[in-house]
Amino acid sequence: MQRPAGNIIAKTVPRLLRISRRDDWQLAKQVSILDVCLRLGLTLRQGKTSCFGDHPDSTPSLHIYNKENRWHCFGCSLHGSSIDLVAGFQRISPSSAVNWILGQSLIPRRVVPVRRLLSLKRSASPNPDIFRWLMEQSPLEETGRAYLSSRGFTPDTLAKFSLGQVVDPSRLVEGGISRWGAGPLVEAGILRETTWGLKSLFVAETILFAFERDGRVTYVQGRAMRDDASYRWIGPANLGKPLFNADALNLARLGRPIHLCEGVTDTIAATQLGKLAVGVLGASSLTSELAAQFDGMKVILLPDGDRGGELFERNARSIFLTRNTYLQVRRLPPGKDVADLIRNQGKKRRGKV
Ligand SMILES: [Zn+2]
Repeated sequence: MQRPAGNIIAKTVPRLLRISRRDDWQLAKQVSILDVCLRLGLTLRQGKTSCFGDHPDSTPSLHIYNKENRWHCFGCSLHGSSIDLVAGFQRISPSSAVNWILGQSLIPRRVVPVRRLLSLKRSASPNPDIFRWLMEQSPLEETGRAYLSSRGFTPDTLAKFSLGQVVDPSRLVEGGISRWGAGPLVEAGILRETTWGLKSLFVAETILFAFERDGRVTYVQGRAMRDDASYRWIGPANLGKPLFNADALNLARLGRPIHLCEGVTDTIAATQLGKLAVGVLGASSLTSELAAQFDGMKVILLPDGDRGGELFERNARSIFLTRNTYLQVRRLPPGKDVADLIRNQGKKRRGKV
């Protein structure tokens, strides 16, 4: 039994078209409403903006609900999805609004679910392009230089590292989303989803330390300058933590001993003291994978003179035991770390002036 070909096409093609058009609506609805607000050029203050509707709006009455991906105006009771929002602000039909949203090349949430990306632990791969962009957008300012200099670091030392400073996190978020889209930034770990919308991982007045390896930025660690910040150190949580200043290993391979420090500032301080140094982030962050990079080298461990330092030393001893590495330990005096040595030098220097 053969049906005429013409009939099959007549029946099938319109159905396929209908299905794909329905997909368009689904995709448009799944795009993050915050991304859509950004593309519409709306200014959100605490999740609120002025309504497109024809009613008094002295205080912004249109609320954006990021988690639900919906909006509601308490001035005129209109509400809906991103599609209705675009239709309202652009004064176009919902169908045209679907096309408008899809034309923005935004990433639908269902395809790149932000929450699932956040729950990826150490399985995400670093995005050197985004990290490089972040550093380019965030040059070290005078205040950051002054802060680092107050810790005893000289301009010569600072010039050896790739450093940056976050001044305006919301501008960083806006620029980042329009350059990369929200999904890749969340995946790179520098954008977090909160109840108040997408937020920069780094707050204002954070010094950025780029982890470079052979010209690629593999990680960025932030240090809050303000002591009342909710954290002192922060970095992308979904990525494994690489060695800081790992390019120093290339020189260690030529025979110089390599100093292994706890953290970024100790590594920079050791470098200022004329040592070839790399750092791990945290006393228990030295994994056998990282340790393998020291094979055949003479490693001088510089643990802080505290409980964390003891842990660091114990952990390093057990990991290097099974490797082809010569390990020597130079423990700092109680309560001291390498950065303290530099700070004291700086005080002495300033005292002389
Ligand atoms: Zn309204």
